[in-house]
Amino acid sequence: MGRLFGTDGVRGVVGDTLTPELALRLARAIGAYFGKGSRILVGRDVRAGGAMLEGAVIAGLMVEGVKVYKAGLLPTPALQYNVKTMGFDGGVMITASHNPPQYNGIKVIASDGIEIPREDERVIEEYYFKSVASKVSWRDVAYDPQLRSDAIENYVKAIVDMVDAEKIRSKGLRAVVDCANSVGSLATPQVLRRLGVKALTLNCDLNPEFPGREPEPTVDSLRVAAGLVSLVGADFGVGHDGDADRAIVITDSGEVIWGDRSGTLLTEFAAGIWRELPRRTYTGVSSSLLVEQYLKPRGIEVVWTPVGSVVISRMIQRGGGAISGFEENGGYMHVPHQIVRDGAMKTALIAYMLALTGKKLSEMVAALPRYYPIKTKIPMSREEAECAVKAVEKHYNAYRQVRIDGVKVMGDDFWVLVRPSGTEPVLRIMLEAKSPEKAESLLAQVKSVIEEVCLGRR
Ligand code: MG
Repeated sequence: MGRLFGTDGVRGVVGDTLTPELALRLARAIGAYFGKGSRILVGRDVRAGGAMLEGAVIAGLMVEGVKVYKAGLLPTPALQYNVKTMGFDGGVMITASHNPPQYNGIKVIASDGIEIPREDERVIEEYYFKSVASKVSWRDVAYDPQLRSDAIENYVKAIVDMVDAEKIRSKGLRAVVDCANSVGSLATPQVLRRLGVKALTLNCDLNPEFPGREPEPTVDSLRVAAGLVSLVGADFGVGHDGDADRAIVITDSGEVIWGDRSGTLLTEFAAGIWRELPRRTYTGVSSSLLVEQYLKPRGIEVVWTPVGSVVISRMIQRGGGAISGFEENGGYMHVPHQIVRDGAMKTALIAYMLALTGKKLSEMVAALPRYYPIKTKIPMSREEAECAVKAVEKHYNAYRQVRIDGVKVMGDDFWVLVRPSGTEPVLRIMLEAKSPEKAESLLAQVKSVIEEVCLGRR
């Protein structure tokens, strides 16, 4: 059977690999999965083709007898929060998150607000390829979908209520927000305004061509935002991705810090506020070893997970809860709010942490163990990549290893992750060491092990 869903929903280039015909047929399969009479909330980000795909999705759901509610433009976590709290049976979000502007996509949300599990994606794929279609009567499709224009307000209010707004207001914080020209614009500046944080907005006008920067928040794409933080003397900055479920944080000194760093600090902070939560956090194996080195001595257990936010959400749920879940790419889940990545919630927590501790963000980052990262990839076949994982396992067998997604080797002052990519024929290598020179020589060593064992016959 063919596959539609990738690691984060169905994605394609608008009008090319992602057509209204595909969206319609997929929506019928999604409608069949939720069942006749179910109530589904549909939303989208600013991307090209959003309105076209929304039309097709709504038609497909309706013809399967689903009762459709339209949330319109909103961040993915805003849709998820409304699905969870407003009694919907599920949601459909039209977004391609951080992909380049020509992409769009469709993802399916369960009634608990979390993306549906992999097994359920298989069910929808099966319906899709068998072209399962039910028959509805004219009465079932007689009425327009109901507009839910309160969705963003519900979401913004929930975030503001989650923190001590008075305390934050009393500090007169200043921030820079880079909304990536998409739906983050509709929530994060609003949240900050209500918390009394003076926000300078950048790329917060909605524009499907993403003229300000690419939709992925990186050190490079956030260069202007980082410069602004320093220029105006802001306390912090954040940069969202295209659907604002992620936030990459910038310190007061203009340093862009990856999500494993900000996630570590927020987890320590949240553990002190939400004391009833199990002292545990979940993070992908692509996160730095510093997460464990910093949090473990503070009595917080770190559970390594395979890469991918849906896996983290479901592991938190099945594992009996946690303080948080986070990813190095800027995804942060504040469990008391919702067990999914949430860019505006993360932003509010940063403000809360600064207000309550009275520390500078740059000072807090400086207190984390210092590591020098290298991220690279080597083109190779799936078989070669699997061989590489085995070879690295064997070569470093004297060290602690996590083998849930490739292999992660952990020494006292270095770590290396080697994993086959889920989307392209490459081997991904991520590593960190205590100096740039040590990181380089570690990479050379790992590469020579792989070349010797797996690429010798090339
Ligand atoms: Mg995203």
